[in-house]
Amino acid sequence: MSSAHLAMTTAAILLESVLTCPECGHVKRETMPTDACQWFYDCEGCRAVLKPKPGDCCVYCSYGTVPCPPIQECGKAKSGPSRCGE
Ligand SMILES: [Zn+2]
Repeated sequence: MSSAHLAMTTAAILLESVLTCPECGHVKRETMPTDACQWFYDCEGCRAVLKPKPGDCCVYCSYGTVPCPPIQECGKAKSGPSRCGE
């Protein structure tokens, strides 16, 4: 038995999100930038350019399994309005 897994202490912010293309269902794991929101994402599967849904700040909030870091930091719900950092 190995000892504790205490790697996760303060920063519980995830930087990896799995994006699912709404057009073709293509799934891709991406690493999110921490300093900017990503507005556009080119799907590898169908070449569609994904944009955030209304009310979302970036494609990760709309199509990813994990919302973007600023949203995680504010503790907002995934579908909530993004008024973080204003
Ligand atoms: Zn696609």
